[in-house]
Amino acid sequence: MIPLILLTNLLFNTLENYYVKEKTKSIFRQANIISTDLLVRGLMNESTGINEYVKGINSQDYERIIILDSRSTVTYDSNEIDTGKSYATEEVIAALKGQSKSYTKKNENIVRVITPIKDEKKDQIDGAIILISSYEDIDNSIKSQKSIAFLIIFILLILILLLSYYFSGLITKPFKKLLITINKITDGNIDEKIDIKGNYEIEEIGTAFNHMTDKLQQIDESRKQFVANVSHELKTPLSSVKVLADSLLIQPDAPKELYQEFFEDINAEIQRETTIINDLLTLVTLDKNENELNISETNLNLLIESILKRLKPLADIKGIEMIFESYREVIAEIDDTKISLALTNLIENAIKYNKENGWIKVKLNSNHKNAHIVIMDSGIGIPKESIDKIFQRFYRVDKTRSRETGGTGLGLSITHQAILMHQGYIRCNSKINSGTTFEVSLPLKRPILENIK
Ligand code: ADP
Repeated sequence: MIPLILLTNLLFNTLENYYVKEKTKSIFRQANIISTDLLVRGLMNESTGINEYVKGINSQDYERIIILDSRSTVTYDSNEIDTGKSYATEEVIAALKGQSKSYTKKNENIVRVITPIKDEKKDQIDGAIILISSYEDIDNSIKSQKSIAFLIIFILLILILLLSYYFSGLITKPFKKLLITINKITDGNIDEKIDIKGNYEIEEIGTAFNHMTDKLQQIDESRKQFVANVSHELKTPLSSVKVLADSLLIQPDAPKELYQEFFEDINAEIQRETTIINDLLTLVTLDKNENELNISETNLNLLIESILKRLKPLADIKGIEMIFESYREVIAEIDDTKISLALTNLIENAIKYNKENGWIKVKLNSNHKNAHIVIMDSGIGIPKESIDKIFQRFYRVDKTRSRETGGTGLGLSITHQAILMHQGYIRCNSKINSGTTFEVSLPLKRPILENIK
């Protein structure tokens, strides 16, 4: 708006100057015509002649005409004030020397033109003419045009202000809403949702924001669930210990054998508590990001063979046969401790949830990108509805059976987490009373983290 105001002002000033210049030129022309007429008619020395001649002109271009003789005395003044007076001013002296000049009095809106009356034939200056003209009409019309222009600008300004206020309100409204919701969430109202209307991008922000709060809610829910599960799992062995200790306390004369038996049970419960805590600590370490991986080139054939060797005594107790089928040597860039832990859990489960004299098959293969490990058993199987849940923390299909075998319900969560950290995947297939198959895939090369992100 400011450049527009300045420009309009400049435009009208230029216009006014132009019209005043044009007016000055026309007055000069008039003065020259009068000067020539006076000379041609030989009226310069006859004041009555000048009087009659000037009255006969009837010009609308000027308001006052003053004619001076060569001695700078006023021989004619249309206002009849200065007739007979001497005008020995600088401009008159200059005019009598042959110079034409014009003056503009801006505050009075007057243009004043002075020009010599020169007899070209005799090459002498007989006097001078002063024409005074008002350009108030030009000034007035420019002023009124200017007022209209400024009025339009002012109306425009008000309109623009109102429109900007309205539109900026429209634009900022969703963000204000968003801010209010963010503050509510910060205050702990995590289930707060936002409903913002606006253009596509703004609605996208709203949808993304709601997705984010959904995710936060899920995380919060699973955290609560986890804390509840941990408390419950840790409390169970402690409760058993308390019951055993209490029953010993109320029987001070109990036989030594009973003490011995109860202490063995207490010891087993403490052992169980320790196992749960150790598993939890392992899970916590695996929850850190993948930068925590200690990657090295590992021969998976050797790794699996060593796990099977370590677990053989456990399998022998149940008379389970373990077969390892390897199609080629597979070298992968992995954190061998974490993958060893993951595979140990899977093979240990295959033993734990197997039948007497059953079998376990471990197959290892690879393509140009991934290593594939399949662990099959002839065990009790997992019910269809439980397959999706077995990787959840503390989930067990049969709590009593798992407890008898020393399970914490954390083994598969640890396995799952370790494989995910390697950008791999694990799948489970099972048929109740027939057996279970776990399929693991691991990239051979360590993916570049930047690409994953
Ligand atoms: P747990 O410590 O109880 O073994 P896991 O997380 O290792 O916990 O396994 C979760 C549950 O999945 C087990 O309690 C068991 O019910 C079931 N499961 C895991 N592996 C097998 C398997 N090979 N055969 C049958 N059931 C299995």
